[in-house]
Amino acid sequence: MQRRSFLKSSGLLALTQFLNMSTFSALQALGSELQHSKRMPVLFIGHGNPMNAITDNEFHKKWQELGKSLPRPQAILSISAHWTTDGTKVATTGHPKTIHDFGGFPKKLFDQQYPAPGSPELAKLTQELVTYSHIQGDDSWGLDHGTWSVLLPMYPMADIPVFQLSLNYDQPSSYHYEIGKQLSKLRDKGVLIIGSGNLVHNLYKVDWTGGNKVYDWAQEFDSKFTDWIKKGDHQSILNYQKILGNTAEMAHPTNEHLLPLFYILGLQQKGEEISFFNDQFDMASVSMRSLVIQG
Ligand code: ZN
Repeated sequence: MQRRSFLKSSGLLALTQFLNMSTFSALQALGSELQHSKRMPVLFIGHGNPMNAITDNEFHKKWQELGKSLPRPQAILSISAHWTTDGTKVATTGHPKTIHDFGGFPKKLFDQQYPAPGSPELAKLTQELVTYSHIQGDDSWGLDHGTWSVLLPMYPMADIPVFQLSLNYDQPSSYHYEIGKQLSKLRDKGVLIIGSGNLVHNLYKVDWTGGNKVYDWAQEFDSKFTDWIKKGDHQSILNYQKILGNTAEMAHPTNEHLLPLFYILGLQQKGEEISFFNDQFDMASVSMRSLVIQG
């Protein structure tokens, strides 16, 4: 039903029925229909604690504001830290389930649902656009909390189709950056691309006491990356492990929360501006620094 309603809203349902079009030609029609959109911004969002989804704090408020101030997308592609796979996959399901991929949180968080439709058509288009690596289709994943905890405040009606791209965790930074580049045509089709992770993310060092402490290594990593991002020094960013050594290991004992950033920076076009928001730390070892890139 949701796929039908998406097609209907695109004005394509009657057309496909009348012409008995194949999936491929329906896809072509969808592609040309979406072509007229102005280029969408791209976002890297520090999602942090899953409770931010339902807690009226400054992070949550900023996400609400973004949903109102950004041009309304026709679809959303989310690249979340919480979907790592063997190979790179794109979610092809028309009805992604809400995944509560965490433990130890209140029932109220587990009760949240984000019933946005998927977009099998745009997933297929993504597979065609990316030639750097083979992108496998996947119909088993849903929307993990890296995706829905941010989208719930941004677009609470859950009426915009959402599909996810996974992270191939075995690949170097440049792999993610190059795939990011190849996603750029989606922006011209009204797709809002969101990388959801954290610029600094070390859960072993989280400070639960509620103070404003920030570790030196966390501050250093955050400052270095901010500086590189402002200068457009993507070479240093892609070689961050060599350059920052132990600081990088402390900031990301595992780097799945950093990888979504590489896709977003790969999408930056010449002359596009970057602005930061939520540029502060949570629990001493999680940077919530986020950014929006737009022309
Ligand atoms: Zn996370």
